[in-house]
Amino acid sequence: MNIAIDGPAGAGKSTIAKLLAKELGFIYVDTGALYRSMALYFLRKGVKSSDADKISELSNEIEVGLKYIDGAQHVYLNGEDVSGLIRTEEVSSMTSAVSVYPKVRERLLDTQRNIAANNDVIMDGRDIGTNILPNAELKIYLTASIESRAERRYKELKEKGQDVVLDRIKEEIAERDERDKNRETAPLKQAEDAIYLDTSDMTIDEVVDYIKKLAKK
Ligand code: C5P
Repeated sequence: MNIAIDGPAGAGKSTIAKLLAKELGFIYVDTGALYRSMALYFLRKGVKSSDADKISELSNEIEVGLKYIDGAQHVYLNGEDVSGLIRTEEVSSMTSAVSVYPKVRERLLDTQRNIAANNDVIMDGRDIGTNILPNAELKIYLTASIESRAERRYKELKEKGQDVVLDRIKEEIAERDERDKNRETAPLKQAEDAIYLDTSDMTIDEVVDYIKKLAKK
């Protein structure tokens, strides 16, 4: 069975999907980590996100892979485990800027489809229900107000010891939303057969229970 969870940044997709995967015995696939790893490669190479030709050319040098260690997803960039290096604001911005390029998206297509073809997965991202897994048995479009999303992201990064400012995070999320929703290739949008869920006033447990019931049905 495949469950697709799409939605904007900070809607709680990964928290919810991780818990659900544990309860249902599914594999959780965080597709944002794949795009983030590619962005990290471009940052290390010092390429500008606006340099479409260079980004497309360099995409051919990148192999991104996933492994599960004690149930946790690890992402590998050309063999190096970069899981701990891809959660900074710098990487977030670069990721949304480069994920507009078809070449970047194409590079990650097989990895996502293969893992879903061979396992029960809960996959989260932006275009899972619309593009990657159009036949997923359950599709959820998870969202929340920009205020709650920014606050959740702020707390998450603060807990990781990062020096962050709430207003800056809000701006960064709004910028990413705008870009993710308006890009030409595979933009963020609700699939026609996806269930819309606004989690602004819901607890994590409420959301998990709700989706679990849908999955069982
Ligand atoms: O989900 P996460 O915040 O880690 O995603 C980072 C960025 O990666 C998003 O803002 C989006 O631009 C891109 N992304 C995407 N398609 C996906 C997952 C992430 O374009 N399936």
